Amino acid sequence: MSAECYTIEALLNGAPSLRALNPPARLAVFGDPVAHSASPPMHNAALRHLGLPWQYVRLRITPEELATALRQLSAAGFLGVNVTIPHKTSVLPYLHSVEPAAQRMGAVNTILVEGDQLRGFNTDGPGLVRAIREEFAVDLKDLRVLLLGAGGGAGRAIAVQCAMEGCERLVLVNRTQEKAQQLARELEEFFRSDRLVGPVNRLMAIPWEDSALREQIEQTDLIINASSVGMRLSDSPLLSQSLLTPNLMIYDTVYSAGKSRLLQDGEQAGARTANGLSMLLHQGALALEIWLNAVPPLEVMRQALQQHQAQN
Ligand code: NAP
Repeated sequence: MSAECYTIEALLNGAPSLRALNPPARLAVFGDPVAHSASPPMHNAALRHLGLPWQYVRLRITPEELATALRQLSAAGFLGVNVTIPHKTSVLPYLHSVEPAAQRMGAVNTILVEGDQLRGFNTDGPGLVRAIREEFAVDLKDLRVLLLGAGGGAGRAIAVQCAMEGCERLVLVNRTQEKAQQLARELEEFFRSDRLVGPVNRLMAIPWEDSALREQIEQTDLIINASSVGMRLSDSPLLSQSLLTPNLMIYDTVYSAGKSRLLQDGEQAGARTANGLSMLLHQGALALEIWLNAVPPLEVMRQALQQHQAQN
């Protein structure tokens, strides 16, 4: 099984080099950069376990190459692909259909090839729902959520998912506050109800300032970090330690750093914490379900991910 990172040349003219692999490539992740992606070991472990004679490869596809690469998929015999940074939003116009939730999120991370048709899905949001249930034994819909990094791609997908789940409260926080305010306007319709949760708004966008955060964290069960801060252990802290309290659950979508600063500070405050590996696992399992219409071997995929993380 290859750990290589292929380029668009490998896809052209029916992808002879990808077909010649043993086993042949029928699934892939498109991204730039993509060499770090943990998806191939996770999906390849699943394919082996299911006895399917295919493999999942990394393809470094630049924004200029995206349209051409997508056009090659059907002829190259691909079942589907994942797309990651920087293609999750820019891919939408090239798809023949996009499921409504992904349309609202404005982002697709999974594409199913059906004949010459490309169908777009977003499994990040549903993957997070499963991750929260698994990590904290609670349902997102029952929680008051404060979301950091609400203006980014992952943040938007998570905010839309929280809204669609009907979570108790959603407080949106983003470095560029206008993006969070715009998103709050888009999600207003989900929070119009007679449901009483006390003297606080169910949906808000607030500035990234300690005083505003303190006030909202008092009315929060779950803090989610969807910003890219925390990927390096040298990153400055996202929240002052004094804002973190033992009653909180803290989920960091970042998974590359093991325990990010936010999670370390949360643990020290006595909060329950978890990193984004479980979201990565569940978004991957959901993608596999879409491509194969089969039950994904979750524990096999989890083990492969953990092994990959330990080695990198
Ligand atoms: P993105 O679209 O580039 O968004 C980046 C976000 O981070 C924006 O909200 C941005 O705020 C914020 N940000 C960047 N630098 C900041 C700083 N210094 N201080 C405060 N906020 C800052 O990236 P993305 O695709 O959403 O990815 C974000 C994170 O989610 C990444 O760490 C990624 O690994 C993670 N993720 C995890 C999974 C998983 O399965 N676990 C899935 C998807 C994504 P502005 O709007 O102000 O620029």
